[in-house]
Amino acid sequence: MEAVKKFFKTLLLLLLIAAMGLGIWHFAAPVREQAAPYIEFAGERIGFTSARFRTPTLFGYLRKDSIRAGSQELDLGKLDPSQLTLEIPEGYECSLVVKKEGEQYFSGGADDFARQSFDNGDYTITVTLHCDETQETDWASFFYVVDYTVDIRPSAVFSAEKALQGDIITVLVNTGRSDAEPTISTDLGKPVFAPLGNRNYVSYVPVGFAQTPGEYEIKVSAGGESFTGKVTVEEREYTVQNLTIDEETVANTTGAGASIDYAQKITPTLYTSEKDILWDGLFIQPIEGTITTEFGLYRYTNGSSRAERHTGIDIAAAEGTPVPASNSGKVVYAGDVISTGGSVVIEHGCGLKTYYYHLSSVDVKTGDVVSKGDIIGKVGSTGYATGPHLHFEVKLGEYALSPWELFDGSSSIYSAGQK
Ligand SMILES: [Zn+2]
Repeated sequence: MEAVKKFFKTLLLLLLIAAMGLGIWHFAAPVREQAAPYIEFAGERIGFTSARFRTPTLFGYLRKDSIRAGSQELDLGKLDPSQLTLEIPEGYECSLVVKKEGEQYFSGGADDFARQSFDNGDYTITVTLHCDETQETDWASFFYVVDYTVDIRPSAVFSAEKALQGDIITVLVNTGRSDAEPTISTDLGKPVFAPLGNRNYVSYVPVGFAQTPGEYEIKVSAGGESFTGKVTVEEREYTVQNLTIDEETVANTTGAGASIDYAQKITPTLYTSEKDILWDGLFIQPIEGTITTEFGLYRYTNGSSRAERHTGIDIAAAEGTPVPASNSGKVVYAGDVISTGGSVVIEHGCGLKTYYYHLSSVDVKTGDVVSKGDIIGKVGSTGYATGPHLHFEVKLGEYALSPWELFDGSSSIYSAGQK
């Protein structure tokens, strides 16, 4: 009897030792872990926040779970929806859950995420990468938790707070979540908006060559919000010219008939504008040559005590010199005008136009679409002119603007909103 008891006691002890051994084996079995993968979210390389492994023990009869902490949960702050990109490494199953302010927003795969749109709000995304057990590695799931905020508000950026007479102020607007077009108003002119895509718009505000110096406001309304740009207009220095022109030319090219003709042919172009931006890159000075009459110059003709203003630049050149378009656009007038002679007007978008006068021949017609550098006519001395030259002018609506900043690239139109 004692012997039986002893036998069972020993057996129990052995079983206990075996169980302990198996237990140690089970708990001490090492995780066969692969190199931890990274994901790329919103352009950031991100390591896992936590990971779970399932390791086989006791010849595969059992599995044990283990959890490992990784890097801290990341807060990426304010992001634009266009920045919300997700890249996952190859060889893993990917699933994700997005919560908005604590509530589930959506769940799915990486492809679903790319198609998702995001409203303003605070989000948490949890990305899970999973791989099954292989010969070398264990079953594993890696979790990546990232916080971010989507915050799109309407915005308006005014290119300058100071401008010279003859400058252009460029206004860039985003309407935020609104599809409604923004509006703009100012005492400086009647600017319009051209769409740039993704609810971005550009507008060119003219500061006319003769704009009275002082303080002005530009009021923009976009996506239900109002913005005001303040601009101080400063005086530009202009030169003075005394011009003698023969009385016959004056008689033939000025006066009531010439005014009516100009009003019928050129004036209407001041009040049209092409919705889209057509210009591309720097405006070029159409032809080389001496600048015989500067932009904005005060001109006293034949001893008159009253000055006329010169709204463009005169470039002297040989009769017949080909004249290229300063930039790409659409011809909105081409023909003969009593005062300006052979004339071409090109719209470059958003109301910005270039004017070419006194041409001996006009080689385009109204409605033509021209590319920068295309020949539109030839230098002449037709209309109110004393010799062969090109009168080149830049206008936004009724307002004549300096061409020099368009030629040298310093104009605000180049700062943004280019095609
Ligand atoms: Zn001129």
